[in-house]
Amino acid sequence: MSEFTFELELCAALEDGEYGDSVVARQLGGSVADPGGRILDIVCVEPGPEFADRVAITGETIPGAAIESAIGTGRARFWKGAFDCHTERARRIVERACEIGFFARERRGGRDYVRQVARYPDWYGRIVGIENKPDLGTPGDLEAQLRTDASLGLVDEAILATESYVTRAHLNRIPEVIGVWRFFPESGDLEVIREPTPLPVSEPGIELLAEHPGRTEIAVVSAAEKARARRRLAERAYGKGWRTYAFPDCGACEPTTDRDETLPYCTWKECVVDPASECGAACGGFEAVETPDIDLEAERETRTPWIADPGGARRQSGLDQFL
Ligand code: SF4
Repeated sequence: MSEFTFELELCAALEDGEYGDSVVARQLGGSVADPGGRILDIVCVEPGPEFADRVAITGETIPGAAIESAIGTGRARFWKGAFDCHTERARRIVERACEIGFFARERRGGRDYVRQVARYPDWYGRIVGIENKPDLGTPGDLEAQLRTDASLGLVDEAILATESYVTRAHLNRIPEVIGVWRFFPESGDLEVIREPTPLPVSEPGIELLAEHPGRTEIAVVSAAEKARARRRLAERAYGKGWRTYAFPDCGACEPTTDRDETLPYCTWKECVVDPASECGAACGGFEAVETPDIDLEAERETRTPWIADPGGARRQSGLDQFL
């Protein structure tokens, strides 16, 4: 089974089970000093006290720079000078924040004045990061990845999920704080082999940057940088979710599996497939059909607390510029 298939099946099982009230997302940056240096396979963001207030703002990711800017909820202010970045970038952030309904815009004297439509809420609780390695026989960079998660402490809990039988030798090779799950994609059953130990998210962390023979490059990441990166991670998870796949234009794809999740299930291969890498005319089972019209956004709205466009805030902010 491919890592892609394992990942989608695990996301579906988590959303159906223990993390039904949380935000489940996949493939998100989990490093701070070296952005993109560590990608977390699955992220579960548990709801905090003001989760409903976050849902009410927008279904999109709110840009970190908009949240961190000097634009507040009171009187609208001229956008220039409110951002700690280049003017061009600030302009793009303002446009995006208006488009998604986080900022509202007023035109005065030929200038744009903006304000936040609502105070940014305290909406997320614990963040759990999951590394998928269906087959422990081909571990790749697994040990280094899990050592990074353990020493950086960006997420509250870090877990390894596998389909393999987990031996004592496997457990000894990964940091003790990392939890271990055995997940069976066909049934959706999950067995906890080892509980994770909570990581010190509010303390500085050590990010592993590169390993060379006899030496390791690291960066010390402050508690404030981690807090900022956690908020950005939670925001990206909220906006992205995990249904970020397409369906192939192939008659063998039957988009619903036994567990009633809309996944790209292939009746020819008898498993969920990754259309981007597995499908096309070169595949032996390919039968050309129209690409199925499946609304994964609507499915996310039905199955989770997420709302794509709450209150039409986006439409209202678009109208504001003509007032
Ligand atoms: S292209 Fe091949 S792998 Fe993809 S759905 Fe069709 S038969 Fe399955």
